[in-house]
This record gives sequence, C-alpha cells and structure tokens, in this order.
Amino acid sequence: MSEGIITASYVGATILFILALGGLSNQETARRGNLYGMIGMAVALIATISGVTGNLGILIGGLVLGGTIGLILAKRVQMTEMPELVAMLHSLVGLAAVLVGFANFMDPERLSHYSGIELTIHDVETYLGILIGAVTLSGSIIAFGKLSGKIGGNPMLLPARHFLNLLLLLGSIYLCVIFVEESAAGGGTLPLLIMTGIALLFGIHMVMAIGGADMPVVVSMLNSYSGWAASATGFMLNNDLLIVTGALVGSSGAILSYIMCRAMNRKFIAVIAGGFGTTSGGGGGASVEDQGEVVEIHAPEVAALMSDAKEVMIIPGYGMAVAQAQHIVNEITKTLRSKKVNVRFGIHPVAGRMPGHMNVLLAEAKVPYDIVFEMDEINDDFPKIDVSIVIGANDIVNPSAQTDPDSPIAGMPVMEPWLGGTTVVLKRGMATGYAGVQNPLFFKENTRMLFGDARKSLDEVFKNL
Ligand code: NDP
Repeated sequence: MSEGIITASYVGATILFILALGGLSNQETARRGNLYGMIGMAVALIATISGVTGNLGILIGGLVLGGTIGLILAKRVQMTEMPELVAMLHSLVGLAAVLVGFANFMDPERLSHYSGIELTIHDVETYLGILIGAVTLSGSIIAFGKLSGKIGGNPMLLPARHFLNLLLLLGSIYLCVIFVEESAAGGGTLPLLIMTGIALLFGIHMVMAIGGADMPVVVSMLNSYSGWAASATGFMLNNDLLIVTGALVGSSGAILSYIMCRAMNRKFIAVIAGGFGTTSGGGGGASVEDQGEVVEIHAPEVAALMSDAKEVMIIPGYGMAVAQAQHIVNEITKTLRSKKVNVRFGIHPVAGRMPGHMNVLLAEAKVPYDIVFEMDEINDDFPKIDVSIVIGANDIVNPSAQTDPDSPIAGMPVMEPWLGGTTVVLKRGMATGYAGVQNPLFFKENTRMLFGDARKSLDEVFKNL
C-alpha cells in the first residue's frame, strides 16, 4: 500500500472512531457505533500491517496469538465479570506502552537517527510513555483486584500520603532531567528503570487510597489513562492514528470521569487524592440492630402489589447483573404493561460495576429504551409511584447518603423510592453494598424485603402474575 493510501486509510479510520464514540453516547445508536468502531479498527489494522517492512511472520504470529486469547476471553467472560475484564485490558494497554518505550530506548539506531533537540523530544516522549504506561499498568491491576473482591474495598491511607505523592512526582521530574542528559551520552538505563519503579508504586498507591464507593471514578480515570498511554505509544512509534485514537479514548475517559464525579457529587482532585470512604467505612454506619426490624414479603403478594399499581418504578443494581435477572424483568414488564400498568426503569449513574452497566443488561434483554430513564429524569416522580421494585441495588438507594454526613457515600445523589408508595427490595440477605454501609431504606415502614436470588424471586413473581 502506498504512503498516500495508508494516510487516507488512517483519516478514514479516525472518522469512523469519532462516529463510533458519537454512536455510543445513545442506547438507540450504540450498536451502530460499535459497528463503526469495528470497521475503523479493521481499516487501521490493514493499513498498518501493509506499511510494515520488517518481519511479517512475527507480526502475524503476534496477531493470531493475541486475537485467539482475546476471542477465548470474550467468549468465556460472564456479564458480571465485564468490569474486571475492562480493568485488565487497561492494564495491557499500559504494559504495551512500557514495553514499546523500552524497545524504543534500546533501539541501536536511536542515536544515529536523532540528535540535538530531536533526540531530547524523542527521549521525553519515551519517558512520558513509560511513566503513563506504568501508572496505568499497576493502577489497573489494583482496580481489577478491588472490582473482583480480591482486594478489600476500604481505602489504604498511608500517613503523609499527599507528601509521598508529591515526592514521587518531584522524583520523576528530576529523573527525567538526568535521563535526557545521560541518554545523549549513550546511557540513561538506570534513571529510566528507577522511574518505572516509582510509576508502578504510584499507580498502586493511587488506587489503593481510593474507597470502594469512589471506584467508578477510578475505572473511568484508568480508561482515560489507557488512552493517553496509547497516545504516548503513538508518539514513540511515529504513528498518527495511534496518537489520535489514544487522544480520543483519553479525552472521552476524562469526560466520563467528570460525569461520574458529578453523579457522585465528588471533586475529581479529592477522589484522586483518596480518603473518601474512610469515616465509618467497612460496614460502618448504623448497625442492623440500631434500625429495627425488616418486614418480609413473598412473591404472590409482590405480584398482587404490582398488578394493582398504576405506576411501577424498577430500580436495578449490581445484584440484577449477578442474578442475570434482566430477561425475567423484561417478561414481567411486558405482562404489567399489557395490564395497563405504567412501568418505568430508573438508572443510577453508578449502578452496577461499570458505567452504563444496567443499560447494557436491559438492552440485552430488549427492554424498550423509551421506558428507561436516568436518575435525574425521574427522581422527582417518586411521590407519584405506587410500587418501586429495587432489584439487587443497595448503595444507590441508600438514604444515609442524604442524612448521615459521616457515611462514605455522604453527598452522593441517590434514588428516592421511600418517597413513593411501597418499596420492595429484592436481595439474598442483609449484606451491605459495595461501599460497605448498612441501608436504612430496608427498615422503613413502607419497605418490604423479598429475600432470595433476584432471578428466582422474579420467576416466582412472574408465575403469580
Ligand atoms: P451494591 O453493590 O451497592 O449492592 C448490590 C446488592 O445486590 C447487594 O447488597 C447484594 O445483597 C445484592 N445482590 C447480589 N447478588 C444478588 C443476587 N443474586 N440476587 C439478589 N440480590 C443480589 O450495588 P448498587 O448497584 O446499588 O451500587 C453500585 C456500587 O458499586 C456503588 O457503591 C458504586 O460506587 C460501586 N461501583 C460502581 C461502578 C460503576 O462504574 N458503576 C464501578 C465500581 C464500583 P445480598 O448479598 O444481600 O444479596
């Protein structure tokens, strides 16, 4: 392929990626957006491979190996494990940036290709690429551990942690100066290695210091970092498409982090600095005994409540994903709608374990988009709701976010089903949610608990409907 065709293909792929992002911003167009992204990626791969002059065998071997692993993983992974998979994939982008950076640095022709200011710029690119890559790599591995429950959700707060972070930052800047100086003379390995170690430590420390309730921001932030790491790799490889694609991912991840912060009423800097979720964390808040008794309900009564209602609001949470209850939810919705009950879904921005988690599940079950609403759109309607069905949600319907200033989720906007008629909560027991706080909603006068796996409970409700 000629240079001109490759460049034109890159421009085409960039446009397709932008269209993909545009499509993904809306449920109705998300499928089309994904298709644009896939075509764009295919164009990018073909154009890049056709421009390679070196050993094609190694390249194709790598593609087949990586593609096979990716295919097996994608086929095997459960919907509930998607957030962990995404975190793991981010770590691979970080690892790629680190490896490309070192390969670039060790390239025997580097000093003959570049000199003077060009060499300095090239070295700074390499340094930054490895730095961002290493932070993304270790941060994403810790995020994987936290999301999969292998690492506890409580924030790890070292004494003088802000000072420590500042020290690591200053150390990295100092090492960059040393690296650039030594690199021109043929050295620089030691400062580069030390900085990589510092960046890995920084990634670990940054994510360990963030409390469970603030993990959504971390997930979107690492998404953004992985984009910047890819962009840095693009600079190192002189690949314009990688630079642009990385920047698209980096900036959209940054916008998502901002949206998540707004949804949780947090300041981005405060989240990154860590420490939220410390006050009464780890199952803190008021204990079960303090709050009185819960009132149990059974499937036939729930079916009767729903059939008799005019307005039903369904609030799904992480438990719906665990139980894979979205399909039976759709069946119940269809039945109720055929009985002229107005059923709507209320989606909290941080419900589940990744941005858009609930929307994906409901779309998979073919719940009509026009009855699925964001929290901001429907929270004022709760006083008019007869029955709210909370399916495996906990933190996102926790009134203590509004009433308990010491709660790890204090200040986070929550759905307010308690303002309506009856609230039915489906969960297996009295376990806390991801933030580790007990939920006073369960003990309210107009709340009923339907205990058991959400799918089994809803199967029963459906039979009774
Ligand atoms: P929560 O984690 O607060 O609560 C989920 C509830 O589901 C649990 O209380 C659990 O109770 C119940 N549950 C689990 N399995 C089942 C099952 N099979 N059947 C019925 N119930 C079940 O989830 P929410 O969606 O309410 O809140 C999301 C939380 O995750 C927030 O704290 C958010 O900050 C955090 N988070 C969100 C991310 C995002 O991007 N969306 C990313 C990372 C974290 P029990 O065990 O008793 O059944």
